[in-house]
Amino acid sequence: MAEAVALVGCRNPAQEAEYLKVLSAAMPEERLVPFRALDDAGRAAAQVAIVANPDPAEVAALPGLVWVQSLWAGVEKLVGAFDRPLPIVRLVDREMARTMAEAVLAWTYYLQRDMPAYARQQHGRIWRPHPYRKPADTVVGLLGLGALGTAAAERLVGAGFRVAGWSRTPRAVAGIETVHGADGLPGLLGRCDILVCLVPLTPETRGLVNAERLSALKPGAALINFARGPIVVTQDLIAALDSGHLAHAVLDVFEVEPLPSESPLWSHPGVTVLPHISGPTDMDSASATVAANLREYRRTGQPPQGVDSGRGY
Ligand code: NAP
Repeated sequence: MAEAVALVGCRNPAQEAEYLKVLSAAMPEERLVPFRALDDAGRAAAQVAIVANPDPAEVAALPGLVWVQSLWAGVEKLVGAFDRPLPIVRLVDREMARTMAEAVLAWTYYLQRDMPAYARQQHGRIWRPHPYRKPADTVVGLLGLGALGTAAAERLVGAGFRVAGWSRTPRAVAGIETVHGADGLPGLLGRCDILVCLVPLTPETRGLVNAERLSALKPGAALINFARGPIVVTQDLIAALDSGHLAHAVLDVFEVEPLPSESPLWSHPGVTVLPHISGPTDMDSASATVAANLREYRRTGQPPQGVDSGRGY
């Protein structure tokens, strides 16, 4: 049997026990050991670390590491966090993409069918139908056409929505219009009824959805942020909602999580707060993905493709 694989960064003993059980079942040929249980020889020998939310000092204490496998898709906290350049392999998992696409469709329906307005009306015992808007007359703009954005686009197209997507480099996705780069964004924003954020958090995307870009949206448009909190400028978002330019925002991610109780977002009538649940890691499926990565590494000696530390994703 090869040297142990280190499991680093579990939140608590229950999570560690669960991760060990499911991951070990998916890769019975590997010996998976939590960082805290590795002796000096084990720490020196480990070539691979599977990480959840690791303390960089623990990763630094594994001098023989060749690569790091994240259990999450978003790795902005890992890029540049370690004491040496290490390939960071993020989780690209079909089940996560399916779950995220389902969430995008669910909350798109929530907005398209005016559910926030009807919830407010019920509060005031107001009986007022709003005009029905067909999916075919609703343009959903996707910021990000990666693993999750593409799955979301396909699901939305299947439900009859008109979809336009934005990426950094040119991408083609069947049934949707695509644009890319800084030049492609303004035109897309001006046509969106619902804007969905699924870009990674990088130096380029931090603050991307700001006052200028929100004001470029169609009046009465809505926003869904399922990516990372700092991509949207909270103050600008609240101003756009207060002015009535933006009808509603569904937010699953925040600059600080859990969202502090004093945040104005909790009580804003134009905001739906979700506790970071749109695309959870499914441990059974993630374990199979991680096991396949490890098997390929054992077979070839080559780490899987890691994120590009220069571009940050
Ligand atoms: P991905 O496969 O790396 O795709 C990222 C997409 O964003 C790509 O299309 C990329 O363009 C585009 N992009 C990146 N920087 C850009 C820029 N500066 N301008 C324009 N487009 C840019 O990532 P993914 O797996 O789809 O995941 C996306 C994000 O979702 C993750 O990073 C994470 O933050 C978030 N997430 C949230 C949850 C949740 O529960 N809320 C769960 C999982 C993931 P190119 O195609 O040209 O490279």
